[in-house]
Amino acid sequence: ESSSTGAPVQHNAELFERAKHSIPGGVNSPVRAYGSVGGTPRFLVEARGAYVTDVDGNEYVDLVASWGPAILGHARPEVVRAVQEAAARGLSFGATTPSETELAELIRERMTAESADGVLAPVEKVRLVSTGTEATMTAIRLARGFTGRDLLIKFSGHYHGHSDGLLAEAGSGLATLAMPGSAGVPAPIAAQTLVLPYNDLDAVRTAFATHGDRIAAVIVESAACNMGVVPPEPGYNAALTEIVHEAGALLIVDEVLTGFRVGSAGYWGASLADGPAYMPDLFTFGKVVGGGMPLAALGGRAEVMDYLAPLGPVYQAGTLSGNPVAVAAGLATLRLADLDVYATLDAVSARLQSAVSQALAAEGVAHTIQRAGNLFSVLFSDTPATNYAQVQAQDAFRYPPFFHAMLEAGVSLPPSVFEAWFVTAAHDDVALERIIDALPAAAKAAAAA
Ligand code: PMP
Repeated sequence: ESSSTGAPVQHNAELFERAKHSIPGGVNSPVRAYGSVGGTPRFLVEARGAYVTDVDGNEYVDLVASWGPAILGHARPEVVRAVQEAAARGLSFGATTPSETELAELIRERMTAESADGVLAPVEKVRLVSTGTEATMTAIRLARGFTGRDLLIKFSGHYHGHSDGLLAEAGSGLATLAMPGSAGVPAPIAAQTLVLPYNDLDAVRTAFATHGDRIAAVIVESAACNMGVVPPEPGYNAALTEIVHEAGALLIVDEVLTGFRVGSAGYWGASLADGPAYMPDLFTFGKVVGGGMPLAALGGRAEVMDYLAPLGPVYQAGTLSGNPVAVAAGLATLRLADLDVYATLDAVSARLQSAVSQALAAEGVAHTIQRAGNLFSVLFSDTPATNYAQVQAQDAFRYPPFFHAMLEAGVSLPPSVFEAWFVTAAHDDVALERIIDALPAAAKAAAAA
């Protein structure tokens, strides 16, 4: 193994051995261990613009973007300054602050979109939490408290964080590790979650016909991005909303990954441009909304949100909820993420998608570029995938050699075929050319697998 400068990768390997003595698997989140691509994870020490640098001084064009938050590019000076200024005023107060209201107002404003039915504004109230996991966990508790029902529907291959009820047939790290679920989840809790195939409305109708008056909520990724990218079929989210509402249940649209990345009003807002209007009851946000700091949120109908304590009977709390430093990062990031930024993300993504596809086609590698707005992933199959079973049927073995050829050439891709690729507004021509130059050799490696 050698670095982009030809020097042996020593330091990363030594650090990984050392980390494994004190941290399970050497990592604090499983996919970081490179389990499905093999090799030594890079220990990063700096991230700036479109680039990350490892402990050996190797620089990589980054297509992970901290798994989404870095839409503006890493360490954007205005965001760093906002964080520094907030930190200087105090790291955490454990009390209410003016900036939390500003962020809640900004989220409400951003989650407003024009549709054929007029202007829709489904997010009336917002609560800030620290992780996407907390946001979805709270949204589900809220839906149960509001409806007085217990059952939850989720979709196979969708990932909503690691709370007990959501780990059945989940995407992201569970897909990467081929884990159907997690040990440590009591059977009675797992039994409260019904897992259905994605993009199959009949499966949803059947579940409601059987258990309708016991189903509290359906949770769905706005566009599935944790089994690679698998967009909803046109009109799917709208039809789902209708079925759910007819049965008196709530629809939770998880925009932790897509929110404020796929467009100004997330995938929900983007989907209204050419599809029917729909009004989810609750949304969850994370990643971009915290600008790279630990911050996430849930929001939705005031009538539902007001079921949260202190107004209502559903409890949720957090020592670091609405942390002032995290809120400063989120506010600065959202304020800078204007329509020009989204246009840049779309353009960068489109250019990259076609370059990847051309390189793979030139080597005769069967593939499909799966996309949801500016998010995309490579599926190693000629047939587009619309659900988890199809995603799992691809030639996944072609990804590790592709990944490592790119890494050797100084491009950091997600270390799993089941993850989306993330572009940033800092991916300029120089960064894109480095990626594009690396593609032919990587495509050859994939073809030879
Ligand atoms: N929902 C979705 C759609 C996600 O992509 C993720 C994380 N990738 C989560 C929830 C969980 O967020 P967190 O990792 O911040 O707990």
